[in-house]
Amino acid sequence: MNLRDLRVNGRRLRSTLEEMAKIGATPGGGVQRLTLTDEDKLARDLFVKWLKELDLEIIIDEMGSIFGKRDGKNNDLSHVMSGSHIDSQPKGGRFDGILGVMGALETLRTIHENEVETERPIVIVDWTNEEGSRFAPAMLASGVWTGVLDRDWAYHRTDINGRRFVDELERIGYRGAFPAKEWPVHAYYEYHIEQGPILEREGKTIGAPKGIVCLHWYDVYLEGEANQVGPTPMAGRHDALCAAAEMILKLNQLPAEMGGNMVATVGEIENYPNSRNIIPDKVHFTVDIRSWDDDLSLQAWEKVRKDFEKIAQRRGCPIRIEETWRVEHSPFDQRLVQRVVDTAKELGYPAIQMISGAGHDASYMNQVAPTAMIFVPSIGGRSHVEVENTKWEDCEAGANVLLQCILQSANES
Ligand SMILES: [Zn+2]
Repeated sequence: MNLRDLRVNGRRLRSTLEEMAKIGATPGGGVQRLTLTDEDKLARDLFVKWLKELDLEIIIDEMGSIFGKRDGKNNDLSHVMSGSHIDSQPKGGRFDGILGVMGALETLRTIHENEVETERPIVIVDWTNEEGSRFAPAMLASGVWTGVLDRDWAYHRTDINGRRFVDELERIGYRGAFPAKEWPVHAYYEYHIEQGPILEREGKTIGAPKGIVCLHWYDVYLEGEANQVGPTPMAGRHDALCAAAEMILKLNQLPAEMGGNMVATVGEIENYPNSRNIIPDKVHFTVDIRSWDDDLSLQAWEKVRKDFEKIAQRRGCPIRIEETWRVEHSPFDQRLVQRVVDTAKELGYPAIQMISGAGHDASYMNQVAPTAMIFVPSIGGRSHVEVENTKWEDCEAGANVLLQCILQSANES
């Protein structure tokens, strides 16, 4: 048969996704499958069972990432890899991450049942702890695999209850023996929901991100002066929460002033002692700045940092700032990105190039192998929420693009 005519089974993909969505299902229609919890273990067990049905060689590495390898005609050639993550946000959606793993599984099922032989081996992967909401930072296992993060450092990350990553990995039975260390990859494709509104707005089915924006994280600590709220006059107060409020709005206005598709967000705040009777004397909040332009993001930060310092001074609330994490913007392999667009168009799906505003395991993979992603529309642009949704026909479309891209890469000499 002509490989170009091969298509995935959309109904099977749907029922696979529905089966997975039962694990950690929330009353609001989403899933909660935090990394290395019992729900994560159940989903992993089911995934491994499905991999076994395809006679794949299953590898579980020291970070708990699960790989399923299908032999090629020449196993000395570097592999074609595809996957994403099974873990979710707290009260997350039914598509984020899991679509990329089940989409890759569907392509392998299609290849398997049609007895297609490829030149290169094909590997499917579930990366441990992509979300980073239980153990920070995000993309932990792909970070270790690609040599950016240290394994032992990762092992000692703790959750909010003080449980260590390595102990939880052991507890759910997914601490493998295989070294979490990169091996040669010829091409890495990650299939994912867009998590934004652009494809829907443009009426496109497939998005091929030309890369991922830079990501700058900061932590701001403010000190004020606590006092009884009643007897203390307004004049002369040192209210740390009011200082934070001014800063948060300053940050919110920053992208409009800077331009360049920048976004800036305060998503987390802690207020102390957090009592209606006491003027707040301590506040911590986070800052997240993203853009395709690294320099512009740094300039924006310098500008807003000065504003923060002025506000802190005027309100008599000393400020301390930590520059927590910076990841440069990461352009994907232009040849593979173009292949995603061309393949989508050949299959009759409207497609565009775009930019990914979210981080993915693909950003670390991009540092060690030619990488591209395939996006499908998120209904209403919503993600990391229970109502996250994508049309089944779009799920199928993305999987068909993935299948054809994998086949092309896997038959390259
Ligand atoms: Zn994701």
